[in-house]
Amino acid sequence: MKAVVIGGGVAGAAVAYFLGQAGMETTVIDAGTHAASHVPSALINPVRGQSGQVDADALEGMHFTWGLIRELETQGHRVPHARSGVLRPLPDDRSRAKFGSHLPAGLNHDWVRPAAPLAPGWAHVLWLPEAGWVAGKPLCRALLAASGASVVAGRATAWTSDRVTVQPADQTGPATFQADAVIFCGGSAGSTWAGETATHRMGSVLKLDRAVSGLPLSFGAYLSPTDQGGVLGGTFEAPAPGWRPPELPLKSLVWLLDKGEALANLGGVSVTGRWTGSRLSGLQAGPDERGVWRLSGLGSKGFLLGPLLAARLVHDLCQSLGHSAGVT
Ligand SMILES: Cc1cc2nc3c(=O)[nH]c(=O)nc-3n(C[C@H](O)[C@H](O)[C@H](O)COP(=O)(O)OP(=O)(O)OC[C@H]3O[C@@H](n4cnc5c(N)ncnc54)[C@H](O)[C@@H]3O)c2cc1C
Repeated sequence: MKAVVIGGGVAGAAVAYFLGQAGMETTVIDAGTHAASHVPSALINPVRGQSGQVDADALEGMHFTWGLIRELETQGHRVPHARSGVLRPLPDDRSRAKFGSHLPAGLNHDWVRPAAPLAPGWAHVLWLPEAGWVAGKPLCRALLAASGASVVAGRATAWTSDRVTVQPADQTGPATFQADAVIFCGGSAGSTWAGETATHRMGSVLKLDRAVSGLPLSFGAYLSPTDQGGVLGGTFEAPAPGWRPPELPLKSLVWLLDKGEALANLGGVSVTGRWTGSRLSGLQAGPDERGVWRLSGLGSKGFLLGPLLAARLVHDLCQSLGHSAGVT
């Protein structure tokens, strides 16, 4: 059986990987631009935001993503990451109480004393030993390589539940792909190109010449190591109804530097670059009314939840097609 996946970010690459495991002949169409998944360092952190919310699938998602990275590395793919733990400093007793009330029983955690490299002034620190970080682009690359899918560079311009029209990047004429299933994983840019209205939030991270802390620190902003130094992330621009080409968000970069300074001393650290992406909200995982399958709207949790949701989607898709190899 044949499947066509539109989009090669973490959603599309993970869907392609599990389709490959299910024995489906898979083609991935990827425009290769504006992928939020190319964030230099993404946290795999189940305790979110400044209120400490934990998604119902967060623990399973975290373990699933680590398991998948292990599997890829066993197959010889290089995916820079560290399951190092994440420190979540909290400003006061109220925040500690709020975070504490959200922590599920199965979450391995501890409360530790604030200490260097944290800047002074934090009241409490939540230690999440099973969290960590991963470099986005190498993970997507490894998933696509391991999937066995053929990857076509180009943009899908029209699609139904069994046919996709593609404008290849090499400017040759449009090509048509026939399939038993079509899965749309186009992220923020793809949703806008498809004429949909949704909630999009641009965000930037600053690339740093070195890691400020060996462990990711996260509250308001995050400081994390990468394979090539460190990052300070991420801004949240105002919600917009569509994707827009990245701009230089000077005002929010000043805000970001302030938040970074509040986490740790940034003295002597150089900014080596900026990366900007767009988050799409409104999770959709399953078939739509036209019979096109979708995994999109992963918001800020693409690496925490994307692989798990991709595996579930492929399971359901195989079941609906009566494709027994994928139903385990
Ligand atoms: C600043 C920032 C920081 C973040 N930090 C984290 C974090 O710490 N932890 C975490 O879990 N998540 C984080 N995220 C969120 C995460 O990056 C996203 O949830 C995730 O990458 C979305 O993946 P996706 O595959 O749905 O979309 P994308 O990564 O956007 O991929 C979509 C792909 O589809 C292609 N495409 C679109 N339309 C078409 C078409 N018609 N034809 C062909 N190709 C098409 C695009 O070119 C792109 O390559 C962050 C996001 C940002 C912006």
